[in-house]
Amino acid sequence: MTAFDRDFTMTIDGAGVSSDATIDVINPATEDVVGQAPDLSRDQLDAAVAAARRAFPAWRATPLDQRRILVAKFAEVIGGNAAAFARLFTLEQGRPVDKAMQEILASAFWAQSISQQEIPVIVNEDTPERRSETRHVPIGVVGAIVPWNFPMMLGLWKIASALVTGNTVVVKPSPFTPLTMLKLGELMREHLPAGVFNVVSGGDAVGPWMTEHPGIDKISFTGSSATGRRVMASAAANLKRVTLELGGNDAAIVLPDVDVKQVAEQLFWAAFGNSGQICIAIKRLYVHADIYDAVARELVAVAERTRMGDGLEQGTELGPIQNRQQFERVRALIEEAKAAGQVFLTGGEVPDGKGYFIPVSIVDNPPEDSRVVTEEAFGPVLPLLRFDDVDEVIARANASEYGLGGSVWSADTDRAEEIAGRLETGTVWINEAQYIMPWTPFGGHKQSGVGVENGADGLLEYTNPQTISIRKTVAPAELRAEQGVAA
Ligand code: NAD
Repeated sequence: MTAFDRDFTMTIDGAGVSSDATIDVINPATEDVVGQAPDLSRDQLDAAVAAARRAFPAWRATPLDQRRILVAKFAEVIGGNAAAFARLFTLEQGRPVDKAMQEILASAFWAQSISQQEIPVIVNEDTPERRSETRHVPIGVVGAIVPWNFPMMLGLWKIASALVTGNTVVVKPSPFTPLTMLKLGELMREHLPAGVFNVVSGGDAVGPWMTEHPGIDKISFTGSSATGRRVMASAAANLKRVTLELGGNDAAIVLPDVDVKQVAEQLFWAAFGNSGQICIAIKRLYVHADIYDAVARELVAVAERTRMGDGLEQGTELGPIQNRQQFERVRALIEEAKAAGQVFLTGGEVPDGKGYFIPVSIVDNPPEDSRVVTEEAFGPVLPLLRFDDVDEVIARANASEYGLGGSVWSADTDRAEEIAGRLETGTVWINEAQYIMPWTPFGGHKQSGVGVENGADGLLEYTNPQTISIRKTVAPAELRAEQGVAA
């Protein structure tokens, strides 16, 4: 199938459900309406949560091998409809269709890989008297809340992990990009028992309804740090478990011994891929003074040969900002930098016309306390920052409320590793960036998150540890002696 129909319904208790109200989903390249997503009512959310609760006992009792097969079905369904998913993805998200395809295929790969992950049983003690082991049992109903920048892959991280460990799911995509997830729900209906996997869509009210819902036991949330704080406060009402994957302001530190030409191309894509709308994009680029001018020249050269446009047009490498709200935020950041007299090496002028396009914009060594440095732009605006001394640049990199990722670039990997160990972030890459895999834990320090996704640690966030302690048969005389009872 190369294109989906434009009927979008939610999946609640195994059935397609529409609602009285709808939300227009906008193509950010043209500002045309791509489709209408249901805007669910509170009663409909209650129905989805109730369905997930009803389905939970049978799903947790389903043998693990059977759950693995059903989770792997996500990979089959996504892979089997990859072209249609990629096209719909580009229409609602804006990313060029070949790069949209990468996310679709990555989502299938993640589902397949997570379906095979081990759920460990830890033997704490095994002696003639006693056996104590800790198992990992499902938590219950998981509410998954997904942002608009990677609407499919980030959804699949949560869905596959929650389901394989025996939980049931209610997933809510962003109101800006709900369509691919709604289609996935529709296509999965025939494969999963009713209520195991529910997909709902709606406006700004729905996230808070979920985080305060007494029928939801865990929230797995990806989004901004500001929203993450609200999620955590709201989840406290019934002590929901939370995993929070939040914002970042990743620093890259480039030492003077790199091959400038080669590294500049990598740095460019690590900063501007998905038009900068990546949580682990390079958002502060620190370059040693000896090579600062050369790196600046190369980055500008890459920017000038990179094509931005409608993601459905052949040859487009960068798409628009995903939504108007974010477009206005990034534009304001650029205007503020210009008003403060900061110099743009390239970009800095937002064109008029249809679509939320912001050109690649590189700011020349702005002050460390300017908003373009301290805030996550989440758009194609990058501060290029000069440094002389390694201790000083590490302090600057760490002087952030965020702690998601970071990278060090050097021909001397021992030296780079020593620097990496001093960065206060969940992941540090050396001579690359953004390498993430289903078997590697990923999460943020400081205001960038709580908990991790992926890897053994990520999977276990969807479980409660349960320790079973067995006192093996003992002779009554022995027991009396142990308890200090006179024979
Ligand atoms: P956002 O916080 O505005 O929204 C994320 C999701 O939360 C959406 O589905 C939204 O509808 C929902 N939501 C909004 N208010 C809510 C509330 N009060 N309670 C519950 N849910 C609510 O984020 P966004 O703008 O969609 O995404 C961009 C942000 O996400 C950036 O900060 C980016 O760095 C971050 N992000 C982090 C990761 C990561 O893995 N750490 C990955 C991708 C994006």
